[in-house]
Amino acid sequence: LFAGSCEFMFGGAKAGDLPPADLPEIAFAGRSNVGKSSLLNALTFRKSLARVSRTPGRTQQLNFFELGAPPRLRLVDMPGYGFAAVGKEKLASWPVLIRDYLRGRAKLLRVFTLVDARRGVGKLDEEFFELLDKSAVSYQLVLTKRDEIKVSEREPTLEAARKALEKRPAAHPEIAFTSAEKNEGLEELRAGIARLLAG
Ligand code: GDP
Repeated sequence: LFAGSCEFMFGGAKAGDLPPADLPEIAFAGRSNVGKSSLLNALTFRKSLARVSRTPGRTQQLNFFELGAPPRLRLVDMPGYGFAAVGKEKLASWPVLIRDYLRGRAKLLRVFTLVDARRGVGKLDEEFFELLDKSAVSYQLVLTKRDEIKVSEREPTLEAARKALEKRPAAHPEIAFTSAEKNEGLEELRAGIARLLAG
């Protein structure tokens, strides 16, 4: 699925701009610079899939990519939060569209929430979890840049992230720990997505 066709199909910035919810979707979110573009590219074996999402004007919208021919799954690249260009380091500056998307998307299977393993779960991430919890969306934490963490620090890093998640009201799938750079944890993530899709 991931190695096959992957087409940019849509960028939505206004209500009514979204594609119909006719395919299962998984979304990717996180602070800007968390490594989201790198992860999306590595997951789909591309070099520049996520480039389209970085085109000025597209950074604050939802970008949709379809995987498979015929399409079987949609990847949704959500705008990075805490993005300096937005002005305030606030999720509140996120377009209403995104809140509406999270709240009302019937086929949204999971939101993969990326957190830089070096920074750990921060205030903005917690704010985002809050939004996801309120929207009753299932989410999974992905710690990125695993290669930047010393081997001896990896388990404590995971444990700290688990603790942050334990504070949330719902239970969550086991945290993924990835390196786009070193190709670590990606096969597990793909397999997890395939299982989600299989239902
Ligand atoms: P985005 O803003 O979330 O899309 O983040 P990018 O994918 O553009 O990555 C931000 C920075 O982190 C870039 O300098 C990347 O090279 C770096 N980066 C991304 N993934 C990794 C990783 O797995 N390991 C390391 N060491 N650096 C990474």
